[in-house]
Amino acid sequence: MPYLSNILFAILLVAGIGFFIRNVKKLIRNIKMGKNIDRNDRTSERWKNMIYIALGQSKMVKRPIAGVLHIIVYLGFLIINIEVIEIVIDGLFGTHRVFSYAGRLYNVLIASFEILALLVLISVIIFWIRRIILRIPRFWNKEMTSWPKNDALNILYFEMVLMCLFLFMNSADYSLQQLQIEPYAQVGSFPISRYLAILLPQNVNTLIIIEQVCWWLHIIGIFVFLNYLYYSKHLHILLAFPNTYFANLNALGKFDNLASVTNEVKLMLDPNADPYATPEETDSNDVPDKFGASDVTDLSWVNLLNAYSCTECGRCTSVCPANITGKELSPRAIMMKTRDRIEEMGKFIDNNSIEDFKEKGDGKSLLSTISNEEIWACTSCNACVTECPISIDPLSIIVDLRRYLVMEQSSAPNELNMMLTNIENNGAPWQYNQMDRLNWKDE
Ligand code: SF4
Ligand code: SF4
Repeated sequence: MPYLSNILFAILLVAGIGFFIRNVKKLIRNIKMGKNIDRNDRTSERWKNMIYIALGQSKMVKRPIAGVLHIIVYLGFLIINIEVIEIVIDGLFGTHRVFSYAGRLYNVLIASFEILALLVLISVIIFWIRRIILRIPRFWNKEMTSWPKNDALNILYFEMVLMCLFLFMNSADYSLQQLQIEPYAQVGSFPISRYLAILLPQNVNTLIIIEQVCWWLHIIGIFVFLNYLYYSKHLHILLAFPNTYFANLNALGKFDNLASVTNEVKLMLDPNADPYATPEETDSNDVPDKFGASDVTDLSWVNLLNAYSCTECGRCTSVCPANITGKELSPRAIMMKTRDRIEEMGKFIDNNSIEDFKEKGDGKSLLSTISNEEIWACTSCNACVTECPISIDPLSIIVDLRRYLVMEQSSAPNELNMMLTNIENNGAPWQYNQMDRLNWKDE
């Protein structure tokens, strides 16, 4: 059948893209399960942030070695994938190197793809050495076992294989061009793969098989990679852009106080307020159904987007004072547990329905995986937020979980409960009567 390979390719293309779209829909549905907050303000600042942080990788280079290597892999990902357009057209229409009519421009393109492919390969090997041989501590925290550890390594192996397939495909093509075999016309410049040609047999049939096998495995690998993203920390390749766009632009440390609680506090602190006055009518929208968050649906959709975008790099944990001093808390683990919980919720919805989840829940919550010890170890210093290369905010999740514990469960640690009682009774965190505050001066 003359068109068999084209038909097979079309099936592969539709299946690869179809499965990806299905997962994207699931991702959007899950993120939308979060509470609504408005992040459509200050659009020019948001665009600037996205271009500077996500596209320009400005925060990555604060750690120069990892930063530069990451930029190479990232550029490789963006630029080499232009080649995929040609592969898709060739696959669908049975052409060979369809863009080769661009002549010298094509030579430049292929040469730059090859140089980048080599640089990506070297960078990925260095990444692997840093993880496995140098064992950089942030890659070996206790949350980085089983799937998170394997996920990081899988993607490195994946990239190594894809780059090798690309270079060997070109190398076989180059050899066939030298042997003047049809349809391998004299196109493209192969500054790297030409040197690999000596590793290949010079038998025409074997070279054609190698070129075709590498071509097919390369494109199958790209589709597998595309669909692997949803299950991997590498989703950040796509989500870093919306994540930085919708990031919190307020000054660090500024909390989103609840309006109804702020009014209560103002009333308590106002010496002229009449405690017996009839309370003003409160807009029912001002009073939340629940204070704080006990599950992912109580968090904002930006928190959920943050969780899906987390690269699990551990930069946040490496600067977290609580973690450094041996506490249970790791801001990276907070993001990972949030994502796991969203996925758990998503699976329940897949097997039942959104209505079922909203009505009855699935009997689990985010607080079943994040412990009180983790929540209360946080000093709210914002170091994790400052350090994160894509502006993720683990602190806002911790604050919402605390809010729930204090305001809904009254289950703050004893020291805090005592302080809150003292503030309520004495107007200060200490256990003294207001009248005794100046006693010290008589001692
Ligand atoms: S805000 Fe909390 S979680 Fe983040 S670095 Fe500071 S102590 Fe750690
Ligand atoms: S929250 Fe940011 S810094 Fe922390 S692991 Fe995720 S991506 Fe890295």
